[in-house]
Amino acid sequence: MGLSKFIREMPKVELHVHLEGSIRPETLLILAERNGVPLPASDPKGLEEFYHFTDFDHFIHVYVTISRCLRTADDFRLIAYEFGAEMARQRIRYAEVTFSPYTHVTNTGLPFAEIVAALNDGRCCARADFGVEFQWVFDIVRNDPSSQHTVVRWAASALDQGVVALGLGGTERGYPPEWFTESFAEARRAGLHRVPHAGEVAGPESVWGAIRYLDAERIGHGVRSGEDPELVAYLRDHQIPLELCPTSNLCLGVYPSLSDHPVRRLWDQGLYLTINSDDPPMFGTDLVEEYQKLADGHGFTADELERLSLNALQASFLPEEQKRDWHREFLAEFASLRTRHLNQGETE
Ligand SMILES: [Zn+2]
Repeated sequence: MGLSKFIREMPKVELHVHLEGSIRPETLLILAERNGVPLPASDPKGLEEFYHFTDFDHFIHVYVTISRCLRTADDFRLIAYEFGAEMARQRIRYAEVTFSPYTHVTNTGLPFAEIVAALNDGRCCARADFGVEFQWVFDIVRNDPSSQHTVVRWAASALDQGVVALGLGGTERGYPPEWFTESFAEARRAGLHRVPHAGEVAGPESVWGAIRYLDAERIGHGVRSGEDPELVAYLRDHQIPLELCPTSNLCLGVYPSLSDHPVRRLWDQGLYLTINSDDPPMFGTDLVEEYQKLADGHGFTADELERLSLNALQASFLPEEQKRDWHREFLAEFASLRTRHLNQGETE
C-alpha cells in the first residue's frame, strides 16, 4: 500500500512514449467525429476492444487508423496539451515524446512547419498550466524508407523548436537498421541524438545493427538483447540505455506473461534500464502502472524504482546542468516520500 503511494507520487522521467499512441480515448472519439473519420468504436469501451491486438501488424493497422483522426492544427495542439496534463497526473517531470511527422504531413496536407508550431503551442500551454517539460523525437517510419531523408531534414530544421532526436519506428522485421545508415549519419552531423527502436519484434541482430549502423545512443525497447550473451556484455560495458516497455511487450505478444518478461534478469545482469509506457491507452497502462508492475511482478524495491527513475533522467537529452539540478531535487523528493509513505507503512 505504502509502496503504491510512493510509486504514484515519485518524480519520473519518460523516454519512450508516442504522442499519437497517447491520445485519450475520449479525445480520439471527439476527433474522429469532428473530422468525419470512421472508427470501429463509438465509446471508450469499444475502443478498448479495438485495442486488443493479435500481433504487431494488427497494432500498426490500429495505429494508422488513430493517426488518420488527426486532421487540423488544432488537433495537434490539443493532443500535445493533453499529453502534458497526463504527465502532471502521473508526476512525470520530463518526457521525450516520439511523433511521426511524415505520416501527418501526408495525411493532412498541412505543411510540416504548421504541425510543429501547433505541437509547440500545446507544449507551451501545458508547461504553463501543469509545470511539465517535454521535447520531441521525430521518427522515421521504417515501412516507408523513401521518406527517411525528408524526416531527417525536417527534424534538423526544428532543432531549435524542441526536437532533440531522430527515432526509427514502425515494422522492425523486414526493415533492418542498415537501410537507414545514411539518414542517421546525417542526423548526427546535424546535431540530432539517435534513438531507434530495435530488439522488440526482431532479435539481437537488430540491436547490433542499431549500434553499428545507426550509432544509437539509446535503444527503443532492446528487450530481446538478453538472447545474445555477447550483446548483453557489450550493453553492460558501454552502459547503453534500454527503453523497456513491459506492458507493450505483453500486449504485442513478445512475451506471454509478466513473469516471463526478462526485465529482472536484464537488471540483475547490470544493464542500464529505463521503464516506459510506449502507447499507454492503447495498452491499458501508464507509467505509474509500469513501475507498479515491476514492484508486484518482479519484486523491485523502492531503491530500485528510484534508480530506474534517475536512470531515465540521466539518459535524457537535457543539458547536463539541468540533469544535476533535477537529480538533487529527485533525491530530496524520494526522501520525503519515503518518510511519508514507506517508513510509516512499515511500522503499521
Ligand atoms: Zn515505441
